[in-house]
Amino acid sequence: MTVVSTLSPALRLPTFDDVRTAQNRISGVAHVTPVLTSKTADAMAGARLFFKAENLQRSGAFKFRGAYNSVSALEPDIRRTGVVAFSSGNHGQALAYAAQLFGVSAVIVMPQDTPAMKVAATRGYGAEIVFYDRYTEDREAITRRIAAERHATIIPPYDHADVIAGQGTAALELIEEVGEIDYLVAPLGGGGLLAGCALSAKALSPGCKIIGVEPEAGDDGRQSLRKGEIVRIPVPKSIADGALTTYLGQHNFPILKRDVHDIVTVSDTQLIDTMRFFAERMKIIVEPTGCLAAAAVLHGAVACAGKRVGIILSGGNVDLKTFNALFNGC
Ligand SMILES: *Cc1c(COP(=O)(O)O)cnc(C)c1O
Repeated sequence: MTVVSTLSPALRLPTFDDVRTAQNRISGVAHVTPVLTSKTADAMAGARLFFKAENLQRSGAFKFRGAYNSVSALEPDIRRTGVVAFSSGNHGQALAYAAQLFGVSAVIVMPQDTPAMKVAATRGYGAEIVFYDRYTEDREAITRRIAAERHATIIPPYDHADVIAGQGTAALELIEEVGEIDYLVAPLGGGGLLAGCALSAKALSPGCKIIGVEPEAGDDGRQSLRKGEIVRIPVPKSIADGALTTYLGQHNFPILKRDVHDIVTVSDTQLIDTMRFFAERMKIIVEPTGCLAAAAVLHGAVACAGKRVGIILSGGNVDLKTFNALFNGC
């Protein structure tokens, strides 16, 4: 098979059993986030919608699931020497928090121009921050150097079996709570969330169609599925800052290729509309990236009329200044 030939032999793809193991590991630590419903949203989509509110997860996004599962999976002797990641966003915060809960050190490598709020949040979870110049320095090389110097383990944001398995617990909880669904719709960046959730949906709701949603400006995932291989694109411009990855992960792509029915895109304007809907009508703050899946359903990009649709609201980390700027003049 062509997929297998492109994989490195060391690659271990997670299965639904790994998601179950992750569920046990995160139990009592990660929140079992609520599943929200709205008659207004149902009327807009002409479908029955179930919103999994990961904006209310610890550290403000589903990333805590994968980060905590990955730190938990390390042998105690390996874990003791700490973890490291490059991330200016939700993965960095989630990993810092997970490491703090295990009482081990976390180093997060961030670009010098990361907004102060995000730096403060990550530091607030006890991480040490190492800055780099995104124009002249190679963040992966810096991360590897820190890992080597400190014997710390690199936990990547999506291209990792334990990360994928952890993220899959979001859909696992959703389906266990509401029963079988016809569609599962989730945002797609590097593919940790979508691959993990696909494992759960295929196992617990076999007829379910799995749909990934990307920002219009960065549809590398859609291109990759069409082409049958991982397509790389230049850094896209979108307000969905959690989904600006330029290529899918090696562990993620084979799962997406096997299990995902379709990938659709939404515009920044549709994301802003959806953020407003959540704030005004459902009284929740969802960050732009967190709105991808809901925006696709509410704006008719998924043909789900009359169906039961699970939607992952992936995160809520947007500061008021950014939030305000998005709604300026309305
Ligand atoms: C990271 C992130 C995503 C994308 O997840 P991947 O696992 O990279 O596909 C979506 N939404 C939010 C809020 C995120 O932080």
